[in-house]
Amino acid sequence: MDSTPESPRRTWAEIDTDALRHNFDALQACVGASVQVMAVVKANAYGHGVETVVKALASRAAMFGVANVKEAREVRVHAPGVPVFILGPALPDERAEIVWGGFIPSVSDVAEARAYAALGTGAPIPVHLVLDTGMGRIGIWEDDAERIAHEICSIPGIDVAGIASHLPVADEDAGFTHDQLLRFHTLVEKLVAQGIRRPVVHVENSAGIIAEPALAGTLVRAGLALYGSAPIVEFQPKLRPVMTWKTRVTLIREVGVGRGVSYGRTFITPRPMRIATLAVGYADGYRRHLSHCEAHVLIGGKRCSLLGRVTMDQILVDVSALPECQAGDEVVLIGQQGSEEILAAELAEKSGTIAWDIFTGIGQRVVRT
Ligand SMILES: *Cc1c(COP(=O)(O)O)cnc(C)c1O
Repeated sequence: MDSTPESPRRTWAEIDTDALRHNFDALQACVGASVQVMAVVKANAYGHGVETVVKALASRAAMFGVANVKEAREVRVHAPGVPVFILGPALPDERAEIVWGGFIPSVSDVAEARAYAALGTGAPIPVHLVLDTGMGRIGIWEDDAERIAHEICSIPGIDVAGIASHLPVADEDAGFTHDQLLRFHTLVEKLVAQGIRRPVVHVENSAGIIAEPALAGTLVRAGLALYGSAPIVEFQPKLRPVMTWKTRVTLIREVGVGRGVSYGRTFITPRPMRIATLAVGYADGYRRHLSHCEAHVLIGGKRCSLLGRVTMDQILVDVSALPECQAGDEVVLIGQQGSEEILAAELAEKSGTIAWDIFTGIGQRVVRT
C-alpha cells in the first residue's frame, strides 16, 4: 500500500470563519472605526486553530496578540504583514528572536528594556510598556510609572511605541474597571506631558470593549468575544459562536433497571434505558467535572443527559427518547443542532470554570476543520 487510509473523525471542531469575521466587525463597531483591534490568538487561537483564525482575520486585524515567541513565529507565517505583539514577559532566551523577528515585546521594568536594547543592531527596538493598574501580574506599578517610564525612554535603542495595561475585573466589577480606566488614561497623559512620543494605548480585553468602549484608548485586545463567546452575557446576541464541537455515537445499548453506569457506579439506572456511548472523553477536553452536573449533548436536535462519570475516551448519554438514534450519528457537544444550542459558557458554568478554559482545554485529538 502506498497510502495510509484516512481514519473517520471521532471528535472534531468545525470552525466558522464567517462567524469569526462577523464577531470582529461587531467588536470594531463597538469601539468605532478610530480604534484599532488586535486579534488575540494565543493558545492556538483559544483552541480554534491558529492558522485558520489568523488567515481569516489577516486583512482586518491591526495586530495579532500571542503569549510567546513560538506562537509569534506561527502567526507570522500565516499573516506576514501584520504586527505581532507578545502579551506577557518573554524568557531571557526568547528575546533575541523577538528582536530579529521584529515582534513587539511587552516590557515591565528597566532591566528588561536594557536587555532588549543590548540585542539591538541599530534601529530602535519598538516595545510596549505595561503598567500595573490593578491586574497585579506584570507591568510597572502605577505609582512608579512616571519615574520608570522616563528611565526606559532614555535608554538608547529603545522606542516606547505603546503603553498598555490590563483589566482584572472587567466582567465582574464595573465600578473598579471604570476607575481603573480613568487612572490609566490619566497616567498615560502624564507620561506624554513628560515628553514620551504619543504611543499606541491599549488596555481593554473583550469585557472591557463591551462595557467601556468609550475608554478604549487607540487599540483594543479582543480574545474570547472574537470566538463568539461573550464575557458579558447581554452582548451574546451580537456574537456568533465560531466553533461547533462534535463527536459521534459509537454504540447503543438497551440497559435494564438497577444497572451501574461508568466508573464509580455513581449512576444506577432508575428504569430501563437506551444509552449511547460517545467517542469523546476528558482526554479530548470534555471535562471530567461535568459528571453529575446535568450536562447535556445534542443528538437529533434534542438535549440528551450525560450519565455517570466522564471517562478518558468515552461518555454515556441517555437516548431513551430517541429510538431512531444509532451508531455513527453526529453529536454536538458545543454549538447548535436544530433549534437547540449549547454554548461554551454553559459547559463552563456546569463544570465550575470559565469559557476561556473550556476552549483552550479542547485536546489535540480533536481535529479542527
Ligand atoms: C488573553 C489576553 C487578552 C484577551 O482577553 P479576552 O478576555 O479573551 O478578550 C487581552 N489582553 C491580555 C494581556 C491577555 O493576556
